[in-house]
Amino acid sequence: MSAPHMNPDEFRRAGHAVVDWIADYWATVEQRPVAPSDPPGTVAAALPSTPPTTGGEPVEAVLADLDSIVVPGLTHWQHPGFFGYFPANTSGPSVLGDLVSSGLGVQGMLWATSPACTELETVMMDWLAHLLDLPQRFRSTGSGGGVIQDSASSATLVATLAALHRASGGRWRDTGIDRRYRAYTSTHGHSSIEKAVRIAGLGSDGVRSIEVDPDTQALLPDALRAAIEADLAAGDVPAIVVATIGTTSTTAIDPLPEIGAICAEYGIWLHVDAAYAGSAAVCPELRWSHAGLEYADSYCFDPHKWLLTGFDCDAFWVADRAELIEALTVLPEFLRNAASDSGAVIDYRDWQVPLGRRFRALKLWFVLRWYGAEGLRAHIRSGVALAAQFAERIRADDRFELSAAHPFSLVCFRLRADDDVNAALLARVNGTGRVHLTHTRVAGRYTLRMAIGSPQTTEAHVDEAWTLLANTAKDLLTP
Ligand SMILES: *Cc1c(COP(=O)(O)O)cnc(C)c1O
Repeated sequence: MSAPHMNPDEFRRAGHAVVDWIADYWATVEQRPVAPSDPPGTVAAALPSTPPTTGGEPVEAVLADLDSIVVPGLTHWQHPGFFGYFPANTSGPSVLGDLVSSGLGVQGMLWATSPACTELETVMMDWLAHLLDLPQRFRSTGSGGGVIQDSASSATLVATLAALHRASGGRWRDTGIDRRYRAYTSTHGHSSIEKAVRIAGLGSDGVRSIEVDPDTQALLPDALRAAIEADLAAGDVPAIVVATIGTTSTTAIDPLPEIGAICAEYGIWLHVDAAYAGSAAVCPELRWSHAGLEYADSYCFDPHKWLLTGFDCDAFWVADRAELIEALTVLPEFLRNAASDSGAVIDYRDWQVPLGRRFRALKLWFVLRWYGAEGLRAHIRSGVALAAQFAERIRADDRFELSAAHPFSLVCFRLRADDDVNAALLARVNGTGRVHLTHTRVAGRYTLRMAIGSPQTTEAHVDEAWTLLANTAKDLLTP
């Protein structure tokens, strides 16, 4: 028997049904509970334990099971009442660009394995650098350049590896390192930094967690300098500082001008992680958050968080692409080709950990052409304005307090009550299924996070969240 491939006509018919299904999902997602409440194992128990022997199931049968088994077990990240973590936007143009990428099924590991995949990506990264007004040194027209990584975590890992290559004078790559190399980030630096440092072979002890200002949660430059001096005195080698624009906990902004000057003084690689807040820089009035970026050796943000481009899409730039490529290049015979040998092309496999790579630039291209700079700015501005309105409600109600500044679209707040009461508040409002918020700790205290940014969220949804919070607070605080 020959394999029953889906022919183009069958694909066309099934594909239309799937696109209709997604459009219906978006049109009705608001009516669903934001997050499921079934116990663990519910979805798995509803699925057969073995795969089908004969195929031929129509796509309608799969869609029916999507509706009855999968969708009830989803947390709906595109729901207008989704306020958890950070947003993970997607959009129509993003999905369509990704669909084209799936349909083409090309591997973009080398320029030669699909030239358009590489060249569109280089241009998209220059477009994004232009949109965010990033320093010239990151553009492909100079010594730098950008590449799409799957995640900010990978960007941090790759930056760490390049930094170790530099700090060890090439030993990290060639012989392995024999001394203790150190990475520095604030106590609010993302967990992916410790993971990167562990993968790089430095061990968790290789990370120096630098104290933050208790009011702003931003890294204290004097504490950074002191940690570097102490390590140098002990014979260790400071390799990389990871500064954050928009920390995950509270969107604190580390003082890049001071941190950058310290890195320059000691010759330490500066990586700037703006995973969530980088998108804000499409708006000129929010670019103050990126002051000092000209010091950075590398920078990344996630269009897949707040810039309407579906996961996965992390935009990562380096100021000196030669260092990165030197650190990561490995050239087996089966990949040798004239274009690579000529040095005239970019081979993105040398800019990342895996060899293979998807054609992710397509979804960016679709998104940027659909929205344009003004459309993207409108999306960011709506989130920032809604967050400001929500913060105003908190400020105006004596029972509540703001726990941190809200420069972007995240508001951190708490009831003026014990941690238990705040945890109960979160559980109760989430229990309604109308909204989904998450929490953090600020200065040790349980704090609620309201992260606005789903494309469907409007003032009415933020008002509803506030009403739920205020009414629940009344219940909780009434003895
Ligand atoms: C979300 C986040 C990350 C991790 O992002 P991924 O792309 O999921 O790896 C890293 N750093 C910061 C500051 C974040 O907010």
